[in-house]
Amino acid sequence: MDWDIVIGLEVHAQLNTNTKAFCSCKVNYGDSPNTHVCPVCLAYPGSLPVLNKELVNSAIKLGLATHCTIRPNSTFARKNYFYPDLPKGYQISQFDDPICYKGYVDIEVAGKEKRIGLTRIHMEEDAGKSMHSESGTLVDLNRCGTPLLEIVSEPDMSSPQEAYAYLTTLKQIVRYTEVSDCNMEEGSMRCDANISLKPKGQKELGTRTELKNMNSFRNVERALIYEANRQKEVLESGGKIIQQTLLWDEQNGKTKSMRSKEDSHDYRYFPEPDLSPVFVDEAWIEKMRKLLPELPAERKQRFIDSFSFTSEDASVLTSEKEIADYFEATLKYFNNPKLVLNWVRNEVLRILVDTGKNISESPVSPEALAELLVFLDKKEITAQTAKAVIDDMTKSGRSAESIIEEKGLKQISDSLELESMINKIISDNDVIVKRYQEGETKLLTFFIGQVMKISKGQADQAVARDIIIKRLG
Ligand SMILES: [Zn+2]
Repeated sequence: MDWDIVIGLEVHAQLNTNTKAFCSCKVNYGDSPNTHVCPVCLAYPGSLPVLNKELVNSAIKLGLATHCTIRPNSTFARKNYFYPDLPKGYQISQFDDPICYKGYVDIEVAGKEKRIGLTRIHMEEDAGKSMHSESGTLVDLNRCGTPLLEIVSEPDMSSPQEAYAYLTTLKQIVRYTEVSDCNMEEGSMRCDANISLKPKGQKELGTRTELKNMNSFRNVERALIYEANRQKEVLESGGKIIQQTLLWDEQNGKTKSMRSKEDSHDYRYFPEPDLSPVFVDEAWIEKMRKLLPELPAERKQRFIDSFSFTSEDASVLTSEKEIADYFEATLKYFNNPKLVLNWVRNEVLRILVDTGKNISESPVSPEALAELLVFLDKKEITAQTAKAVIDDMTKSGRSAESIIEEKGLKQISDSLELESMINKIISDNDVIVKRYQEGETKLLTFFIGQVMKISKGQADQAVARDIIIKRLG
C-alpha cells in the first residue's frame, strides 16, 4: 500500500535581544547559573511583566520576511503547566490571535520549488533549564523569560527531505533578518515535528505523533525517516497510531515515548491579565520593513541576473548574509565577479573551514583578497602562486604585495629566462624528446609540468608552452 507522509514543523527561535521579554534582565548564553534573574522572571508575588518592544520589532521583521500578515491588535495568553524550571507555573505566550499569520517560505528540493505555508508566528517567553545529573537535578533560571518566536508551519511537507530543506531555508531567512543567530547547539533554534501517514490521495489526515529533542537538522530528517517507517509498519500490520509525544534517541537512532500528546485545552489558555494588547499600526510595520535587508531569495536572483552566475554558485554565495556581503565588499575593490566568485567559493570558504572561523572574522579581508586577485588578473603571479600566497596571508596576516615582493614570487614571463630552463629540460630528457618528435604530442604536458616544477609554479605557462613547441620543432 502507498502512503502519503504529512509533516508540519514548529520552530522556536530564541531572539538576540539585549534583555528578556518581560523584564530588564540580560539575555546571555553560558553565564553562571541564576545570575540574570529578578522578581519578575522569578515570579515573585506582586511583580508585573513589562513588554520588551524589541520582541515585537523582531516578530514584525520575521513576519514580513516570511510574507505573513501582521495583526494590528494581538494579545498575550497564559499557557499553564507545571515544571520545576517554570516558576510562574505558566508561560506567557499568544493563543487565538498571534501577531503574524498566513505566511509562506519557498523551498527547493532536487531542483523543484515548493511553497510551504506558515500558519502563524507568535511571541512567547522561554522557560528555565533543568540540568540532570547523578546527584540530582539543578535548575538554572537565566533562560527564564528569554524572548522566543514560535514559527508554526502548515502540514505542507511530504517528505523528511522537504522538512530538512524547509528548516535550512527558514534558518537562512531568520539569520538574514538578524533577529536570532539560530544556533541549534546552544539551543537558540529548536524544532518539534508533527508527522502522520494517510493512504495515498486520501483527504482526511491520519493520527499524528510529535517528535522532540532533535538537536540538528540532520537529526530532524533522520527522526522523521525513522518515524515514517515505524508508522507505516504499525498501519500495515493493522495497528493504530497513538497520538503521543516521542523523544528522538540519537544514540540508538530510534524514537521513544515521552508522554501522551496533550491538546491545547490541557494548557487552559486564558488571556494574560497583566499585559495590555499589542497595537501595531502601519507606520510601525513600515519602519520595520525598511530595516529588513535584501532577503536570500531576492539576493540570489540578483546575483544570477547581474553576474550571470549559475543557480548553484548564487546559492553558495547567498547561503549566509555575511558571505554575500563579503563577496560584494571584495567587488568594490576589484570588479571581476567571476574571479572573485571562484576565490570566495574555493579558497576563502576552505580557509574558514581550516581555521574554524566564520566569514566575518576571516583572516583575509575583502580588501586583502582583492589586492591578491589584482596581481593574478594582471598575470604578475600564477594561479598556483596565488594559492600559496593566500595561505601565507592567512597564517601571517601580511598583505599579498609584501609576500610577493619578499619571496620574489612574480610570474616569470621573460622568454630568455624560460628558454634557459627549457634547454636544460630538453637536454636532460632526450628519450622523451625523441618520443615527442616521433609523434607522441601529448608529452607536451610533461615538458610544461617540468617547467612549472623547476620554476616553483612561477612560469607563465602560455609563454613556456610556445617556447617548448618551437624548440622541439
Ligand atoms: Zn528578570
